[in-house]
Amino acid sequence: MPVLVMKFGGTSVATPDRIRRAAKRVGVEVSKGYDVIVIVSAMSGKTNELVGWVNETSPLYDAREYDAVVSSGENVTAGLMALTLQEMDVPARSWQGWQVPVRTTSAHSSARIEEIPTDNINSKFAEGMRVAVVAGFQGVSPEGRITTLGRGGSDTTAVAFAASFGAERCDIYTDVDGVYTTDPRVSSKARKLDRIAFEEMLELASLGARVLQTRSVELAMRYKVKLRVLSSFEEQSDDAGTLVCDEEEIMESNVVAGVAFSRDEAKMTLVSVADRPGIAASIFTALSDGGVNVDMIVQNIAEEGRTDMTWSCPTDQVMRAQKAVEAAKADAVINYQDVIADTDVAKVSVVGIGMRSHTGVAAKMFQVLSAEGINIKVITTSEIKISVLIDRKYMELAVQALHDAFELDKAA
Ligand code: ASP
Ligand code: MG
Repeated sequence: MPVLVMKFGGTSVATPDRIRRAAKRVGVEVSKGYDVIVIVSAMSGKTNELVGWVNETSPLYDAREYDAVVSSGENVTAGLMALTLQEMDVPARSWQGWQVPVRTTSAHSSARIEEIPTDNINSKFAEGMRVAVVAGFQGVSPEGRITTLGRGGSDTTAVAFAASFGAERCDIYTDVDGVYTTDPRVSSKARKLDRIAFEEMLELASLGARVLQTRSVELAMRYKVKLRVLSSFEEQSDDAGTLVCDEEEIMESNVVAGVAFSRDEAKMTLVSVADRPGIAASIFTALSDGGVNVDMIVQNIAEEGRTDMTWSCPTDQVMRAQKAVEAAKADAVINYQDVIADTDVAKVSVVGIGMRSHTGVAAKMFQVLSAEGINIKVITTSEIKISVLIDRKYMELAVQALHDAFELDKAA
């Protein structure tokens, strides 16, 4: 029988009653003839609570025990979902990650899935079981310890199962009804997309759209898993939600598919560093060794052998970055006059595969911002994205103006 993967996020399994509603949805797919693999998150708020307990108990915790504790929320919802399905006379059982087993690396709290053998679950399907309920977010390391995949990791569990079992589709049930052109809380004109290409979704996810864990999109793109994002709170038709798919499967699309933003950006500048070969390597090695996630980078024009180097990173990593460059200066690895941090910036990006074949998107973006009197501090581009760093107080305005200018409220 064809296999379908259905993933339910935290709000969709927040109470026994909601689990019942989710289970009914599973029952519908079973009655259509699918064998279903259900991936569940922990009840909403549960993982945060567990993380809090770990921090309270042991601030410098042993990451293996962190995973032992933090993975437990999913065990509860997996068992409850299996029980609910059994109550509905649907043959179902639950599986924890290690029972499948979901084999991962041993990078605790951010492990990667290496392999998901299908024989255990498939032999149960062959015996008449119709639903395998799997605890998301967790796996087992080569050492036999429980691992977790990083926050939001159940999405990745779902896509990995869909790839391993050759599922027809991977449906991600969540509290929004799909992927939008931008966050509807920022622009009232945001429009739900029927389809979006993997690459666009990947950019949007990594730029701050929180619907899907970035790694789940990477995995879906690599294995061509058809992903559908839809609401578990609304009645669903067969074409509900947003389909994340190959660009060949999208007939017409706007040049720009969406506007993304992220509030938590900081801009840092090293003033007057020596302009010599290897300087960028030294600075960014120091930052990376210090655990700083650098995003945008700009090197200014050099004058008399000195230049300024600017980068952006998450606001909460500014202290770390400061320490890292100061240590490198103390060790005489780099030399600079001053380090400046601007923590009142935000990043706004426009994303769309149409940019590959259409010129003028950047010019238009900059004109729109200029017409609103918004100053651009840093610009970066890729083949399908343009990002700018601006003052945070203009973020909403910029998103709305760009959404209007690119007419994202209208379908192609
Ligand atoms: N429960 C985990 C978290 O809150 C994993 C997930 O829901 O995807 O991050
Ligand atoms: Mg999530």
